[in-house]
Amino acid sequence: MRTIGVIGLGHMGRGMALSLHRRGFAVIGYDPAPAAREASAADGIAVAEGPRALWRDCEAVVLSLPTPDVVEAVLLGADGPLDGARAGLLVIDTSTSHPDVTRRVAAALEPAGIALVDAPVSGGPKGAHAATLTMVIGGGDDAVARAEPVLAAMSATRVHVGGVGAGHVTKLANNLLCAAHLITAAEAVRMARDAGVDPGRLLAGINAGSGRSGVTQVNFPTWVLNGAFDSGFTMKLMRKDVRLAEELIGALALDLPLSAEVARLWRDSAEAVPDDADFNAIVKLQLA
Ligand code: NAD
Repeated sequence: MRTIGVIGLGHMGRGMALSLHRRGFAVIGYDPAPAAREASAADGIAVAEGPRALWRDCEAVVLSLPTPDVVEAVLLGADGPLDGARAGLLVIDTSTSHPDVTRRVAAALEPAGIALVDAPVSGGPKGAHAATLTMVIGGGDDAVARAEPVLAAMSATRVHVGGVGAGHVTKLANNLLCAAHLITAAEAVRMARDAGVDPGRLLAGINAGSGRSGVTQVNFPTWVLNGAFDSGFTMKLMRKDVRLAEELIGALALDLPLSAEVARLWRDSAEAVPDDADFNAIVKLQLA
């Protein structure tokens, strides 16, 4: 594969476009926001005024979009690939999206010979720029094998977890856990702090023990204890992910009480912690 499109040049898509460009792919980017297009153009990425050129000229198109609704509109709406795409087009959706939407869209594209792979990511904007993302991948074996050189140019770790949509199921499970761990870790730090233990020393102890998590090992030292709160991932996007997980649990008719409480806490915190804050700021419910 030589020519790759990237649709959505935000915090994540901009870095992915740059990583692909550095690995020698010809990259064409598109984003409706002029500022996003200008930033990628300044990175040396060719940017288009609309998505049509990408479907027509690219062998694979990578999506990095905010919500499942936007993914569906881009892929099945006017100016989508069904209006005219290169034969054998591969679509790689790195957005955190809903697996039901992913499966529905994949089924709609398949008769036109367009394959979809879901490859949502962890690692933030820094990981996107440095091509060190972790991807959990859903898709048929053939499509995932075809996507591999493109995925490898953007990520350091890839786990193929199942068919189309399985990547998005896994990503929602991961982010539900991260959302829960932020709250439980903040409560543990609050308890220990009020009981006279320094949070930094506490974290050193927890990270040597069985209560550790990505949140205690990465989020607290990198973005919380130093007051930085600059991960590049917003409350708005994490609230979306928790809501999508809640919707999936509802659609499966499951009774998962702790997950329901986590979803409620994230939803009800909207006034205390605004949508544009860093997602780690949920800890301020306990550690203000
Ligand atoms: P972002 O809001 O910074 O970027 C999204 C981009 O999509 C914006 O530039 C927006 O203009 C563009 N866009 C909106 N509608 C569009 C359309 N119809 N066509 C083309 N582009 C459109 O978001 P982000 O932080 O880059 O996140 C992108 C996706 O990656 C989300 O699904 C998010 O949940 C996921 N994600 C983000 C992070 C992170 O740390 N930021 C980490 C992992 C996963």
